[in-house]
Amino acid sequence: MNELIIQVLLYVVIILNIFLGVVIYTRSNQKRIKILFSFIAFFSSFWAISIVGFYSDLLSVYEVNWIIFSHIAGLVIPFIFFNFSLFFKNRILNNNILPFIALIPIFIFIYLLIFTDKIVGARIGESAYELGNYYIPYSLAVIVFFILGYISLVKQYSISESIAEKVQIKYVFTGSLIASTLALIPDLVMPYFGIFEYTWLGPIFTSVMVFSIFIAILKHNLFNIKAIITEFVVVLIIFALLIELFLSKTTTEVILRCFILILVTLFSYILVKSVYKEIEARLEIERLAGDLRIANERLKELDKLKSEFVSIASHQLRSPLTAIKGYASLIKDGSFGKVPPGIADAIDRIFNSSQALVLMVEDFLNISRIEQGRMKYEFEALEMSSLIEEIIAELKPSVEKANLALSFSTDKQEPYCIKADKGKIRQVVSNLIDNAVKYTPKGSISVTLSKKPAHGKILLAVSDTGIGIDAETLPNLFAKFSRAKDANKVNVIGTGLGLYIVKEIVNGHKGRVWAESAGKNKGSSFFVELAEDSEAIHATRVADFAKTM
Ligand code: ADP
Repeated sequence: MNELIIQVLLYVVIILNIFLGVVIYTRSNQKRIKILFSFIAFFSSFWAISIVGFYSDLLSVYEVNWIIFSHIAGLVIPFIFFNFSLFFKNRILNNNILPFIALIPIFIFIYLLIFTDKIVGARIGESAYELGNYYIPYSLAVIVFFILGYISLVKQYSISESIAEKVQIKYVFTGSLIASTLALIPDLVMPYFGIFEYTWLGPIFTSVMVFSIFIAILKHNLFNIKAIITEFVVVLIIFALLIELFLSKTTTEVILRCFILILVTLFSYILVKSVYKEIEARLEIERLAGDLRIANERLKELDKLKSEFVSIASHQLRSPLTAIKGYASLIKDGSFGKVPPGIADAIDRIFNSSQALVLMVEDFLNISRIEQGRMKYEFEALEMSSLIEEIIAELKPSVEKANLALSFSTDKQEPYCIKADKGKIRQVVSNLIDNAVKYTPKGSISVTLSKKPAHGKILLAVSDTGIGIDAETLPNLFAKFSRAKDANKVNVIGTGLGLYIVKEIVNGHKGRVWAESAGKNKGSSFFVELAEDSEAIHATRVADFAKTM
């Protein structure tokens, strides 16, 4: 490989390792881990520096034997890695006396490296060097430290109960296993067999290990990888510009390069700052989203409690109310003797109010059924026109009392069959007609039942000439507790639940309900569209045909 590329790679590795070490050291709050990591990172840089020194014969005037330094780094890195593995995730494993014992061979090997030729000796030619008798024990020590590191990582993994932690340990384990194996081959094994050309690969592979540990620590501390990459690229560019500056030959070059350097530094600063701002904003959003999620859950919980409370309260209210209504009705009908004229009106009011309350309680019960998912439908064949006629007959007294005209138009020859829960569809129709009565001070109400044969649907329309609905209210009409602002003026007793229940029931029948109004005081129309029950229609037609025979 081109020597220049190797040198550039090694320089990048030197800067990268120092950079990663500084990042973790300045930002991590795990004391022991940050120190150990920074040591690994700095020794990796040191190793790369010593390889560069060896290849380019740096400081040869001082007779510096770079190969000694590279072998010291090669020994210290696995030793610190082993220590790191023991303390990673803040769990000191039982055999924590081992690092201290391990210091003994470390000192012996360092002594042998510096003061003797027993492990490595003098340089031979371009890239080779002599190996001493203790080269194999030295190599074994390196390998043993790595293995001890892996063993403690496996132990950490097996005792860890958190999935996030396990992922982190996996990162460290995989990254360092791959990197150390790859680094050991060109730097320990190959030299033993006389191949020295690839020792520069060692520090490059080790940076993979440093980087994987860095990522694992990052995951825990939530630093942002994007910001760190930006910072690193910026550091690299500034470093390259600095080298260029030092290599300048003329004053013009110095001034120009200085100018470029200042400009780039300034922009880099702004860039890094903006990246951090973005991260902060994102963290803030994440925090707010978290708060919102908690608040939402709490609200859901409260809503559930409220539904339960409403359900219980309504059940308790129902029986006394039914009794009041029942007795008022009996008194009204004279079951307890003739009612004096002065009292008849009062009894009438008691009856009407209790009737309204019974309906209201029924609405509350329906709401809690809907909210608790207890609304059950019992579908059966139902003929709509006769049901509507029945309901109109029931509501006749209140329509007459309100001085309104109520008409019902439909094609009498046609059966309007649907599959529906009779009780619930009855509730829908009475609610709509009842509303038309309540919100029409004078005029008329018309109910029509028609078919949309092409779509297999039947359409019920309840129109009135009443107070109408303004465009602002219309879209929210079917929401829970929704009432128009002026609804109180016309009908004081109202909960805004009726149409919500209507919508729920119609949805439960896979139908559609909507309202139309030309505006205030221009009347309103409510529509319900339901699927026709074709089988029932066919059966009715067959029966009708049979009758004519
Ligand atoms: P409530 O009648 O108890 O207020 P509803 O859910 O039945 O509750 O109706 C919700 C609101 O829709 C009413 O308060 C009223 O403002 C409006 N509304 C319903 N029906 C009509 C109608 N026929 N004409 C005008 N406004 C209506």
